[in-house]
Amino acid sequence: MRFETLLKCWALPAALLLAAVAGCSTNPATGESQLNWISTEREKSLGAEASPQFVKQYGGDIPSASIHAYVSDIGHRLAAVSERPDLEWEFHAVDSAVINAFALPGGKVFVTRGLMEELKSEAQLAGVLGHEVGHVTAQHIGQQMTRAMIITGAGIAIGVAGEQSDEDWMKVLGVGTSVGGGLYMLSYGRNQETQSDELGLRYMTRLGYNPIGQVQVMKVLKRASGGGGAGMEFLATHPYPDTRIKHLNEIIKDQYPDYKDPQKYRIYRDRYQHTVLDELKRLPKAAHDPANQPAD
Ligand SMILES: [Zn+2]
Repeated sequence: MRFETLLKCWALPAALLLAAVAGCSTNPATGESQLNWISTEREKSLGAEASPQFVKQYGGDIPSASIHAYVSDIGHRLAAVSERPDLEWEFHAVDSAVINAFALPGGKVFVTRGLMEELKSEAQLAGVLGHEVGHVTAQHIGQQMTRAMIITGAGIAIGVAGEQSDEDWMKVLGVGTSVGGGLYMLSYGRNQETQSDELGLRYMTRLGYNPIGQVQVMKVLKRASGGGGAGMEFLATHPYPDTRIKHLNEIIKDQYPDYKDPQKYRIYRDRYQHTVLDELKRLPKAAHDPANQPAD
């Protein structure tokens, strides 16, 4: 092979390698080295741009100042004890009957009314929000996007030159694309789910919530999805419930052996009942409910 040809052959991988090295960093939450081309500024602008669309598509914020204040308070306290307290965190309880929770880059976290109605305690809600905060602090979306860019071969142009608009980035990620009345969200890998579960436990226990709340959430959702698919959207974006329940139980046994100590870890079942569940019963039906929409 001629030297010039060899040079051409190697030009692309070499550039990718350079970009990869430049994009390699240590994740603040997991301590692992990661390949992530998405800067914190970019994360913030992506989240800020996409967040209003998601609020709208999920029926808007639940029309209750007390629920909003409650969810926002728990969320912000979880974010404050995380490794990335300085992001532009926002916590939305959206008026959708769909059972789901998800996070956008930069710290925009969503939990649906459908999911909140399935929960029984503040510790469970803290488990859901803590898990989503974990996806953000572990920069899972940035890593997924980076991977998508490498696969599509757009890595060099997008990752290094950075000329892609936020809208284009969202397309790369698949965020905000409506599929059959529901929203398509990227699904994470098994390791990423496990990582977020562990981070969720870390943040919720730092606030004194009983880690068992996290296991209960997984069980509730598994059960809900068995009864006709109501929970499918959550399980589609948060797969592997059985593996995760097992893993969560192991971690709790290992790292929080005193989880049954009521002085140390709290559940707050009553507070959740009257602040959230009783209040939701007083409100009109969810503004967003795919089951009520005519098929097209
Ligand atoms: Zn997740």
